[in-house]
Amino acid sequence: MSRSAHPAGPRHGDVLPEGHYTAPPADLNGLDPRVWARTVRRGDEGAVTVGGLDVRELAEEFGTPAYVLDETDFRARCRAWREAFGPGADVFYAGKAFLSRAVVRWLHEEGLNLDVCSGGELATALAAGMPAERIALHGNNKSTEEITRAVEAGVGRIVLDSYQEIARVAHIAKGLGRRQPVQIRVTVGVEAHTHEFIATAHEDQKFGLALAGGSSHPETGGGPAAEAVRRVLMLDSLELTGIHSHIGSQIFDMAGFEVSARRVVGLLSQIRDEHGVELPEIDLGGGLGIAYTPEDDPSEPHEIAKRLGDIVARECEAAGLAVPRLSVEPGRAIVGPTAFTLYEVGTIKELEGLRTYVSVDGGMSDNIRTALYDAEYSVALVSRASDAPPMLSRVVGKHCESGDIVVRDAFLPADLAPGDLLAVPATGAYCRSMASNYNHALRPPVVAVADGQARTIVRRETEEDLLRLDVG
Ligand SMILES: *Cc1c(COP(=O)(O)O)cnc(C)c1O
Repeated sequence: MSRSAHPAGPRHGDVLPEGHYTAPPADLNGLDPRVWARTVRRGDEGAVTVGGLDVRELAEEFGTPAYVLDETDFRARCRAWREAFGPGADVFYAGKAFLSRAVVRWLHEEGLNLDVCSGGELATALAAGMPAERIALHGNNKSTEEITRAVEAGVGRIVLDSYQEIARVAHIAKGLGRRQPVQIRVTVGVEAHTHEFIATAHEDQKFGLALAGGSSHPETGGGPAAEAVRRVLMLDSLELTGIHSHIGSQIFDMAGFEVSARRVVGLLSQIRDEHGVELPEIDLGGGLGIAYTPEDDPSEPHEIAKRLGDIVARECEAAGLAVPRLSVEPGRAIVGPTAFTLYEVGTIKELEGLRTYVSVDGGMSDNIRTALYDAEYSVALVSRASDAPPMLSRVVGKHCESGDIVVRDAFLPADLAPGDLLAVPATGAYCRSMASNYNHALRPPVVAVADGQARTIVRRETEEDLLRLDVG
């Protein structure tokens, strides 16, 4: 690799470190609509606005770091998913991506259902008035308390994940005099990632019950999944409504869903043959990808709906089954693109011949994805426009950890200075929900903006909050 210094100095972007594959963008002030929330613009003065509000004013009012969420975009994405799938299907928003009471109300108003996977998420959903029948409870180790709360509330679906759980939910439902609708989560032997999938993946994971196993071929299913079906069908307090499969995350290639749908439908036809029942539902999970950088090219909801609908219809026709009601569970694809994290630059360190380290006032406590998954993000200077040349940068946080990286490789204007505001787009999913108090960081607020109004929907933590947990 060439680390030869650029004659104009290392702050100039044409000296690329090994493995860096993109050239500086043509316009450092540009805001690519693929990665920025719908109402984000660069205003006349050069500063960025969202929902008609200047980010400098948002920083002034709410402080930094802060997650800024474009409510207009969130609702538009909900509607796009709802309309794409139509009245014959259900869209469950995966609450683990980001959940708050305001978000639950938006989902309710926009006609979406909600996946929860813990007592805390269930409590949030119920507190915000989501009708219980539109809630699904997930998880590979739901506690007795969580199951009891869900059955008592009357959740529309519990997704069963183990033999023990079948017995546990049946026992609790029976005790409460209920017949609880359930699905069985199966592992179909497909593992899907961004650009590729493996159709013969080992079922070496904690979730679900394997289709494969026993002496049967994976397409027909003779393994733990079929055994789970037999057990559930014998229990009066459980109503088996369908089969559930979730194959991965940040997926762009739909081919993995095709194999998954074929295998799930294969199980439905085996259940019909063996038990004489046609289950009315299938759920193909979530995992649809979003653009974190302009190189990513996700599909639109209507394309996804058409692909999935066609696959299921074709497989059912081949198996001679009526087409079941389909559900999907996008989390990231709804909330991910709707928010950005607003940071203030604190220090700037130029490492000659390498890159420039730009330290912001947050880091791995508000975005663990870069450290945890090697995730890629983009970043822009948002408090002003700049005509300065590009500077190869690494945006890092303020934590005591050298892996505390927010954006590994980015180009920022070479005149960047302390006090400037940076924004990292596409941080709506799995950032606030995975935030930590590492170094006793105070978790940032989530500020929702719409039509020229901003309001806190999750407030910033305070030192008082920290000390309240620390009972001394
Ligand atoms: C995580 C998860 C989802 C949502 O995944 P996204 O990548 O956010 O779309 C959906 N269903 C299940 C069962 C999950 O575990």
